[in-house]
Amino acid sequence: MVTLDRVTKSYSGGVTALRDVSLSIGYGEMTAIVGPSGSGKSTMLHLIGTLDRPSSGSVVIDGHAVATLPDRALSALRARRIGFVFQQFHLAPGQTARDNVADGLLYAGAPAKRRKRLAEETLERVGLAGRVDHLPHELSGGERQRVAIARAIVGGPAILLADEPTGNLDTSSGARVMALLHELNAAGTTVLVITHDRAIAAGLPRQVALRDGSVI
Ligand code: ADP
Repeated sequence: MVTLDRVTKSYSGGVTALRDVSLSIGYGEMTAIVGPSGSGKSTMLHLIGTLDRPSSGSVVIDGHAVATLPDRALSALRARRIGFVFQQFHLAPGQTARDNVADGLLYAGAPAKRRKRLAEETLERVGLAGRVDHLPHELSGGERQRVAIARAIVGGPAILLADEPTGNLDTSSGARVMALLHELNAAGTTVLVITHDRAIAAGLPRQVALRDGSVI
């Protein structure tokens, strides 16, 4: 699913956020990326998510060498095969849970009615069947994150990338979100989770530790 080969990422201003990193993640794996703040975790997730390109080295996602893909093909790969979940949820505040999730299908070009139906089915799958008409501010933090997960998976991505998905949640909501990610993984989705939380990382089958931009 993911191959990083000798990847280095430097930002303008001279910071080298990743240094000569090589890593393979197979289809169906569930992996934690751990490390202190500033160690390069988000940079790695951005490169795997094709949101950014490396300064050197190669990134291959789902068989596609990212460097060789034109922008349109890269957008299509991202939209069809990759789902994103963030610590801050990033839901549209004026839209219902259903419409937020349906937005996850905009790229697929499905008609609005079908998008809404798939959104409702996916909200049911994450345990929010009774919340489809709620606005984000009418939902708890844990429910908002489950809406965000529904939006990320409604298009059936091969890989789900989660950046501190439980960072803003209390322990029990966080546990529920992690249980959902485990369920999605059991159903076949490759899952990558950045986390500061040692207990969460310990509960995942594989941990990749970063320090100062290197895998240790
Ligand atoms: P983490 O997610 O582990 O906290 P990051 O990948 O966000 O680490 O950051 C790694 C290093 O790269 C840090 O020193 C950070 O300040 C720097 N960095 C991250 N993004 C940028 C950017 N867009 N421009 C310049 N420096 C950045």
